[in-house]
Amino acid sequence: MYYREEMTDAGKLENMKHSHVFLRFPEGRAKAVTFSFDDGVVEDAWMVEMLKKYHLGGTFNINAGLCTCDPTNYEKVSEDYFPDKSIQERFTRKDMYRIFEGSGMEIAAHGYTHAQLDKIDTAAALWEICRDRAELERITGVPVRGIAYPQGGVNSNIVTFLKQCGFLYARHAQSTYAFDMPADPYMIQPTCHFLEEQVSQLARTFIERKISTGVFQKNTEPALFYIWGHSYELRRKGTEDYKKTEALFQYLSGREDIWYPTNLQLFEYKKAFDEIIYGIDRTFAQNMSCMPLWVYANGKTVRLDPGAVVPL
Ligand SMILES: [Zn+2]
Repeated sequence: MYYREEMTDAGKLENMKHSHVFLRFPEGRAKAVTFSFDDGVVEDAWMVEMLKKYHLGGTFNINAGLCTCDPTNYEKVSEDYFPDKSIQERFTRKDMYRIFEGSGMEIAAHGYTHAQLDKIDTAAALWEICRDRAELERITGVPVRGIAYPQGGVNSNIVTFLKQCGFLYARHAQSTYAFDMPADPYMIQPTCHFLEEQVSQLARTFIERKISTGVFQKNTEPALFYIWGHSYELRRKGTEDYKKTEALFQYLSGREDIWYPTNLQLFEYKKAFDEIIYGIDRTFAQNMSCMPLWVYANGKTVRLDPGAVVPL
């Protein structure tokens, strides 16, 4: 009782500062949608056009070893790796420029030959990852910092290696049907597959979801709708699915409360958020990255400019 009486008004306010600082996306948004497509197949051209049309961000995980230099080599590659050629038609390296140059999409690794990384020895796994990354970087001219695990296979050696050589995130293929930001960026599980039955219902739930403002309320955390797949599945399933996919993109697009990053943009932003320095009493924060960040703390959304110390 005695202590309370001694407190100044300022002291009372400071004691009410809460330790929980919530991630917010650029411009203070609380929702993000991102896409990830695997394998590098000819239908990616359609997918890139659709993502561009609706101003969405996507990542394409490519096996450089299966993208041949000229189309006639494809016959040989497909025979060795994919006896059923009707399923997957990989694009050539020349196609890659045509499809992706200036598209704003991210190119990420998927292993040089799509070997399942936890089924081969460590040296072979590292070679699969590094050779893929090196060739993709030679083609794109920018660092490749993301990977999707071929067949979802991974072990702790591989994760350690990815961290050591500068990969920022890695993705599995098991749907969660949830909108949580992944707790571990090297074990990302997507929300759902783009052709799964649940996708339209999940999209509706996501769009209608109201972000709460209370520290202890549900849904104050940011929401991520992470959609993945292979664009060759469109061909397998027929024209109806092209229509459904475009309708999904259109429905999710153009919303002011949603950010539409590539996977790399999303996980670069998350890393920068994780590296914010706080005063020990959480009354101020310093953004150590080179990009502006937004957080939600003590009932308000706050912009943190690079380097600036900002009260919370
Ligand atoms: Zn794959």
